[in-house]
Amino acid sequence: MNMLTYEMPTKCYIGTDVISNFGEVIKKYGDKTLIVTGRNSSKKNGSFDDVKTLLNKINIDYVVFDSIEENPSLETIEKARIIGIGEGVDFIIGIGGGSPIDASKAIGILIKNIKYTAFNFIGEKNLESLPIIAVPTTAGTGTEVTQYAIVTDNKDKCKKNMGHSVFPKVAFLDPKYMKDMNFDITVSTAVDAFSHLVEAYLNTNANFISDMYCEKGIGIFKKCLIKLIEKELDMDLRENLMMVSMLGGFAIAQVGTSIPHGMGYALTYNKGISHGVANCILYREYLKCFKNQEKVRKIIDILELESIDTLGNYLDEIINLDFRVTEEEIREYSKGMASNKGKLKNHPEAITEEEIFNIYKKSLLK
Ligand code: NAP
Ligand code: FE
Repeated sequence: MNMLTYEMPTKCYIGTDVISNFGEVIKKYGDKTLIVTGRNSSKKNGSFDDVKTLLNKINIDYVVFDSIEENPSLETIEKARIIGIGEGVDFIIGIGGGSPIDASKAIGILIKNIKYTAFNFIGEKNLESLPIIAVPTTAGTGTEVTQYAIVTDNKDKCKKNMGHSVFPKVAFLDPKYMKDMNFDITVSTAVDAFSHLVEAYLNTNANFISDMYCEKGIGIFKKCLIKLIEKELDMDLRENLMMVSMLGGFAIAQVGTSIPHGMGYALTYNKGISHGVANCILYREYLKCFKNQEKVRKIIDILELESIDTLGNYLDEIINLDFRVTEEEIREYSKGMASNKGKLKNHPEAITEEEIFNIYKKSLLK
């Protein structure tokens, strides 16, 4: 039998009002916390208030850093690091989408390891973080149950995984925070979750445990896709998307993502396309590029669709996108992707720079 490691240390509390019912479990992480969140949404969707009410109830002191932008930059992470160290916080609560939660993981490392700054901690051997509590308010990244944190490095002009493993200690997954999320954010985060399931399934490292999460998650996504096409954004959809996202997180935590994520980062950095959409606009051609179509066919079967093109057409229908890219630009992106060894090794077949270029070209220069 092939050897396999499996690690999922995050304790998940799942369901409506989990913070008010189970929040006291965070008491053991210390007396003072840094709340890390985005600029607006957490104050509107109730997550920020739920956390503040909890902290007041269990007498935990807190400081708030609420300036995390989408695709968090090292500059912003550095500002939060300085505040967290100055305030002497014991742990971090990340509230929001993937951006604030990923930023929390980086900030947690930097407060715990004070000899580093945001500009020199990537590439160091694995560093430990302060405990992280995750309160996801999007259903997409699954970061509440992964060890990854994706940061934007403006010096190198790209997005990168910080390369240290930080699983949140606790995740509170409550679908009510997503109730009023608009259609575009719902779609871009939903297709990110879907892309995690697909890229983990079609992955060099895929194994029977990750496949189990992926098959289950893709099956749930099938129901979501129909509702998204009909623009039926009800609580049933929110709950299902939250599960798809968590299952995607469980899967990529074990096996990682693959080439669409590597290729999508260039589109996000250079063209401002939201993360999930940047992956999924490549999907029709990515799925077609497999020489062995067996597992691709399985995905299409689980979705109960006819073909890759049917899936591509459905994704095109829900994704709202208008941008321009030139052949020269995608040549550059292809070169970058062809040197991204981490993502390439997760793709189970040999793939050339020209084939990567063709995925971009057929997807974007129609
Ligand atoms: P995000 O960048 O965290 O947030 C996107 C937008 O959604 C922001 O404007 C945010 O507003 C808003 N928002 C958040 N929750 C909302 C809610 N409940 N209702 C309405 N609006 C809401 O989006 P994301 O897609 O979740 O995260 C993307 C980041 O995660 C990328 O950097 C990506 O590379 C990374 N990622 C990480 C992993 C991982 O395993 N660590 C996996 C995949 C992707 P505010 O700014 O006001 O909060
Ligand atoms: Fe992703």
